[in-house]
Amino acid sequence: MAQGGGTDRADAAGGAEPAEDADRAGDVDQAGGGAGIHRGREAVFIGGAWRPAATDGTIDVVNPATEQVIGRVPAGTAQDVDAAVTAARAALPGWAATPPDERAAVLGAARDLLAARREEIAATVSAELGAPMAFATAVHADLPTAVMASYAELAAAHPFEERVGNSRVLQEPVGVVGAITPWNYPLHQIVAKVAPALAAGCTVVLKPAEDTPLVAQLFTDILAAAGLPAGVFNLVTGLGPVAGQALAEHPGVDLVSFTGSTAVGRQIGATAGAAVKRVALELGGKSANVILPGADLARAVNVGLANVFANSGQTCSAWTRILVDAARYDEAVAIATASAAKYVPGDRLGPVVNAKQRDRVRGYIRRGVDEGARIVAGGPDAPEGLEAGYYVRPTVFADVEPAMAIAQEEIFGPVVVMIRYEDEEDALRIANGTVYGLAGAVWGADEESAVAFARRMDTGQVDINGGRFNPQAPFGGYKQSGVGRELGAHGLAEYLQTKSLQF
Ligand code: NAD
Repeated sequence: MAQGGGTDRADAAGGAEPAEDADRAGDVDQAGGGAGIHRGREAVFIGGAWRPAATDGTIDVVNPATEQVIGRVPAGTAQDVDAAVTAARAALPGWAATPPDERAAVLGAARDLLAARREEIAATVSAELGAPMAFATAVHADLPTAVMASYAELAAAHPFEERVGNSRVLQEPVGVVGAITPWNYPLHQIVAKVAPALAAGCTVVLKPAEDTPLVAQLFTDILAAAGLPAGVFNLVTGLGPVAGQALAEHPGVDLVSFTGSTAVGRQIGATAGAAVKRVALELGGKSANVILPGADLARAVNVGLANVFANSGQTCSAWTRILVDAARYDEAVAIATASAAKYVPGDRLGPVVNAKQRDRVRGYIRRGVDEGARIVAGGPDAPEGLEAGYYVRPTVFADVEPAMAIAQEEIFGPVVVMIRYEDEEDALRIANGTVYGLAGAVWGADEESAVAFARRMDTGQVDINGGRFNPQAPFGGYKQSGVGRELGAHGLAEYLQTKSLQF
């Protein structure tokens, strides 16, 4: 079954005029009686309308679980990016001058539409990323909805003006935002940039990851249907080194907000530095799960494995290094070995995003063996019984030394390394001993001892004794994990600049 996708809704909002070709291409298919999957349309969204891209190159979207092509989107070029930035600049004065509570109302409407299209979002992310439906629904659909809700509230409540002595201090939007996002949490990472940018009064050009552009198109329809004025949000799908680079280098962009690899982040930071423009970078991680003596070992190991194997290990903040004291190390390894067996590929554990990523992860597993680490679960071979799909066996390494590549480099797959420490100072040295500092966990006999350890960690976020993810807590990296913060009031601040008036 096919029906005219979200373009109808955009029409209803009065904000979008679908190009004829674009309208035909924007289909929503029913997947085996389940929720509809957005199949993609061969159009970019610029100035409030879906329109054909400047050239006719396309990107095939592949389901990583089946290796089948499920959709097609334009491979936008510098010309499309230029048109999108021009539209965003034209829309900036009007949106920046829109009262915050009116901006909040649009974000609130977007939240409602995200919630209403929950199943379609989950099915689309499940199809283009390979995530199991339960995880796609609970995290890939519901988390961005929660983040959108938090910015609808913040936009209305934030004090955009304050008095400081004889000054009035104004917080004004930074301007046009170029947002470049990865595939691993495709909608969450879009909303974590676009929602605060819109709340602040900025306008946006988004270049989503080439592996997961379908949910980005679906989100575009939602924003149009929420009543966002034309040009405030623009979408150009395309390849990183083409459309992404053109966006990062465009002189009409005031702030580049990037999430992805450290290698590309470094390049974007250098480009932004040369142009003296603002940049926010959310990069990689190699976070430590520190289990202190006296902690609940089984819980710490089991929750730790669940944290890494969720999303097939493709979580930048995953606690991929488990640190255990020498006295309980063997016991912890036995718990992890038994726990890993529950993550059956194809069932509870989805594939990784593409063949390149699968080969990269398996390469790291082989490298770990070559380095002398011991595999206690999983391994580099293909999982049995799966004919298709980019699957990797959930893998646990024991006898890992902190200097090994598998303990230093981000693998971005379902691989955990278990490292033995002698005492707390040793644990701290190991925990802080990588170039990264995005997240982490500490488990202690009591909260106080865990917090005392967490204070000494060089990292942006630490979960204490299994503390839950908070979509309003600032998220971002120390060291080479990035620059700036996303989510909550700290995330909003990234999109504001300050002016003071003296009286
Ligand atoms: P990537 O850096 O290759 O791609 C991320 C985005 O940047 C994509 O949209 C891509 O098209 C674009 N891009 C690629 N080359 C570009 C260029 N030269 N100029 C401008 N844009 C370009 O990363 P990936 O493979 O999509 O994602 C995996 C990596 O991202 C991992 O290392 C992971 O840790 C990191 N990541 C970090 C976070 C975080 O919040 N810190 C979140 C997700 C992913």
